[in-house]
Amino acid sequence: MDAIKAYFKDQAKHLRKEVWEVARQIGEHPELGYQEYFASNSLASFLKKHGFKVDQGTAGMETAFLARFSSHRPGPRIAFLAEYDALPVIGHGCGHNLIGAASAGAAAVLSKSLDLVGEILVIGSPAEETSGGKVTLVENGVFKDVDAALMFHPGSQNVPVISSLALDALEFTFHGRAAHAVAASRFGINALDAVVNFFVGINALKKQISNDMKVNGIITEGGTAPNIIPERAVARFYLRARKRKDLEELKEQVIRCAEGAASMVSAEMTWHKFEFSYDEMHTNLSLAECFTRNLSEMGIDQIAPPQTAMGSVDMGNVSRVVPAIHPYLTLGTGTEVPHTREFTQVSLSSDGESLVLLAMQALALTGWDVLTNKKLLQKIKREFHLLK
Ligand SMILES: [Zn+2]
Repeated sequence: MDAIKAYFKDQAKHLRKEVWEVARQIGEHPELGYQEYFASNSLASFLKKHGFKVDQGTAGMETAFLARFSSHRPGPRIAFLAEYDALPVIGHGCGHNLIGAASAGAAAVLSKSLDLVGEILVIGSPAEETSGGKVTLVENGVFKDVDAALMFHPGSQNVPVISSLALDALEFTFHGRAAHAVAASRFGINALDAVVNFFVGINALKKQISNDMKVNGIITEGGTAPNIIPERAVARFYLRARKRKDLEELKEQVIRCAEGAASMVSAEMTWHKFEFSYDEMHTNLSLAECFTRNLSEMGIDQIAPPQTAMGSVDMGNVSRVVPAIHPYLTLGTGTEVPHTREFTQVSLSSDGESLVLLAMQALALTGWDVLTNKKLLQKIKREFHLLK
C-alpha cells in the first residue's frame, strides 16, 4: 500500500472514536424517515467541525443535507451518501446509523490530505426505509456534475457488487354505481366485482411472467355495507422486476388486466402511483473492483459473488444518473438478520465500531483513487455510458 493510503488509514484510526460516537448516538436515538433531526444535525455538526460547508434542508426535505469540502484545485467531484433513518419499534435494525457515520468519516479522512484535488460531497439522504429520499434528491438534480457516488451497507457478507429490483407502487380505483343490493340491483355497477375480476386476471398473469417479476396486491376499499352495491373499490399493488424496461412492460400488462376487469362489469378504472418508483441498482463494476482491491489491501479477502437483493433500494435511482456502488460489508459474525432486534444490538456493539472503521477506510481509499487516478475515472465513466 502506498504512503498516502497508509496516511488515510491512520487518519481514520485517529477519527475512530469521534466517528463511532456519532454512530452510537444516532443508534441510540432512532428516528423514522423525514424525522431524523437528531441524526442529520449530528452528522452536519461533525462535518462542520472538520471544515465542510453544510447546507441543510436540501431538495425541500428538512432532514436532508449537502456538505462540501473543496480542495480549490481542479479535479473530480465525488459524493458519499449518508443514510440515518431507523425502523419502527426495533430502531436501527438496518444499521443506517453506521452508514451515515462511515460516509461522513470517509469524507473527513480525505479532507486531511494536502494533496487533495477536486471536491468531496457528503449527501445526507433521509427516509431510505420508507419513501426513498434519494429519489427526491435525484429529481432535484443534486447529483448533477457528480462523478461517482459511494456508500456501504452493513450485511451478513462482503458483497461489493449488488443489484436490486425496480419497483412501482400502483393504486387502482374502480368506479361503479351504488344501488340497493336486492331491490334495485340491476341499476347498480359493482366496483367490488371489478376488483375481484382484477385479482383473478392477475393470478392468470402471474403464471405467464418470469420468476424474477413480482406482483403483490391488497384490496384497500371494497364497499361500505352488504346491502349497497359498492360504487368504489380500490386495490394497491407493488410490481417488481430486475430491469426498469421489463417493469414498464409488466406495468402495461397489469393495467390491461385492470381495464379488462372494469369493462367486464361496465365500471370505470383510474390508476396512479401511490409511492415513489425505485429503479434497479446498477453497480458500477469498475468502481466496485476498485473498492474490492482496497478491501483486499486491508486484508479483507472473503468476498462473496454478486447478489441480487430481493428488495429495492433508493440508491438504484442514484445509480441511473451517476456511477455508483452500494457494497455490503459483514457486520459482526454475519449471522444476525437485518430488520431484527439482534441486528440493532450488533450495530451498537464493538462489532459496529470495527465495521465503521473498516467502511470508512475502504470508502476513503476508493474515493482517493477516483479523485486522483484519471484512467480509473475514464473506465468508470465509459462503463456508465454503455449502460445508457
Ligand atoms: Zn438498509
